Amino acid sequence: MIIAVDGPTASGKGTISKQLARHFALPFLDTGLLYRAVGWTLSEQGGDADNAADALAACDFAGSLLDNPDLRSEVIGGLASRVSVHPQVRQALDKRQKDFAYQPGGAVLDGRDIGTVIAPDADVKIFVTASAEARAVRRYEEMRQRGEQVNFDDILADILARDERDRNRATAPLKPAEDADLLDTTDLTIDAAIQQAIALVNAKTSGRRDKDPA
Ligand code: C5P
Repeated sequence: MIIAVDGPTASGKGTISKQLARHFALPFLDTGLLYRAVGWTLSEQGGDADNAADALAACDFAGSLLDNPDLRSEVIGGLASRVSVHPQVRQALDKRQKDFAYQPGGAVLDGRDIGTVIAPDADVKIFVTASAEARAVRRYEEMRQRGEQVNFDDILADILARDERDRNRATAPLKPAEDADLLDTTDLTIDAAIQQAIALVNAKTSGRRDKDPA
């Protein structure tokens, strides 16, 4: 079973996908980390994120980089969003993601284009959304808990800029697949959102079993 979870930054999709993977005992790939690894490598190489050749040169990174906690910073997230605009970068990361999605037994992947490009025939597609303000509040609380100096307006502006770039890029823009189920987490606790996601997967998979000939 392939479960595709897409949505904007800080929508809760990462936590939801991890818990879905745990609940259904499936391997999990956070595809945003691949783009973050490109952003990190590019910054090490002193490249320009808006230059396609520089960004492509940064796609050749060691798998162990994905464990580096520095990839999770806001700065690297911003670079990831910029390098991910280039079709050459998306192409370079395409096979790795498809191999993961189509491994025997299935997988859970989260990202922006899993249900539309990487695994268009996924068994379950969930598009997780939340208002920009709710996402900014979550990001603000996370950063404050990590002891970082934060300004709410800067975080909201950063989220809106990333949304704009992810939704309006020409290649693989962030948008729900036509057959995706929407899960709006604005007014949900994370536990309630996880329970709704599990219920969506169960509804899709038991619905299909009912249609199977006996
Ligand atoms: O999900 P995360 O915030 O880690 O992703 C970082 C950036 O990588 C996103 O803002 C997006 O631009 C890009 N990305 C993408 N396609 C994916 C996953 C992430 O373009 N499948």
